[in-house]
Amino acid sequence: MLPDKEDGDGSGGAGGQIMSPKGEDPSVSLFREYLRLRTVHPEPDYDGALRFLDRIAVELGLPIKKIEVCPGKVVTILTWQGTNPNLKSVLLNSHTDVVPVFQEHWIHDAFSAFKDAEGNIYGRGSQDMKCVTIQYIQAVRRLKAEGQKFLRTLHLTFVPDEEVGGEKGMETFVKHPEFQKLNIGFALDEGLANPGNAFTVFYGERNVWWITIRCPGSPGHGSRFVENTAAEKLRRIINSFLDFREKEKHRLNTSQCFTLGDVATVNLTMVKGGVAYNVIPAEMDASFDLRIPPTVNLQEFEKMIQGWCKEAGDDVTYDFAQKHMNQNMTSTQESDPWWNAFSQTCKEMDMTLQKEIFPAATDSRFIRAVGIPAIGFSPMNHTPILLHDHNEYLNERVFLKGIDVYNKLIPALANRVS
Ligand SMILES: [Zn+2]
Repeated sequence: MLPDKEDGDGSGGAGGQIMSPKGEDPSVSLFREYLRLRTVHPEPDYDGALRFLDRIAVELGLPIKKIEVCPGKVVTILTWQGTNPNLKSVLLNSHTDVVPVFQEHWIHDAFSAFKDAEGNIYGRGSQDMKCVTIQYIQAVRRLKAEGQKFLRTLHLTFVPDEEVGGEKGMETFVKHPEFQKLNIGFALDEGLANPGNAFTVFYGERNVWWITIRCPGSPGHGSRFVENTAAEKLRRIINSFLDFREKEKHRLNTSQCFTLGDVATVNLTMVKGGVAYNVIPAEMDASFDLRIPPTVNLQEFEKMIQGWCKEAGDDVTYDFAQKHMNQNMTSTQESDPWWNAFSQTCKEMDMTLQKEIFPAATDSRFIRAVGIPAIGFSPMNHTPILLHDHNEYLNERVFLKGIDVYNKLIPALANRVS
């Protein structure tokens, strides 16, 4: 890691009060300040994030509500009431937590928000998704300063624990009475960067299945040809899953219109069993991480797995650690009024949209599961996808352009008439 001395604008120092460096856009300074908050797992500084959001609420002049959905896990809500609060509201959602870092692989401290000469801002969360949080806030700040008023109520939610599955964050929050009260009609949540000129938007997610296949077998001495061993069954199971994996990989690589979200991925992630070199074990288990596109019939998919188990042996069984079954997708038909407002506004800004299924999981899946349309969108084009990676960064010009995007999108959505 470099000592970060070249960041001579006075804002790169760790700790203490952050001053806006000379000539830097205040939105960039706020973004960098937020990046320095260590909301990193396993012990995210959620208190720091709450203090930050308290201050933002005061600055924006918006009421703030905090809902402790689980012990120590607070969802913060800022609300800008519309002129017709009976209409369905618009939600701008972001998560406050970030994934851990391996500092030794970073060229700058992952929590210093170092900005290089090209304007690239390095920091964990610079893409996922502290950028979007500050873009929402700064767009709202600008719209308020312009004296704008909207028909529909706008809610900004800031949720914990997305990066550890959302169970103690959004998954619980969507079942909370305070969530119902928000009366949400449409939600924006995180997406991914796009290395090209287009902006990627996500209208659905793959379903996560975590499965363990249990292969019992006859035990015995390691010197003999014991029949019906656990290892033989395990081998058949692994072959079935990994043959399917190859087929899906081939499908992805041979179709130009497919992205990762359009095929199933299968990965063998854990193998367990055995006690000693000379003892044939009574059971061996294999665990797989499966991600299944929302267009796949999940009942048929499970039948396929049952078939593989039966082929491996009559006593082979399986159980799920995770089995997500909701396949709600958000309409991207031009006849859909929410999508129409979103896509037309992007068109007016000459933005090209690339519609995709999100390859991994975000909090959008919980929002869609309760029947609310949600679009995953982080306005970052000409940017390599670096979420969860070393040296995650975002260029300040791309970041600032994103505020302009929300500055147009928010009124289009919040003023939608019917
Ligand atoms: Zn994220």
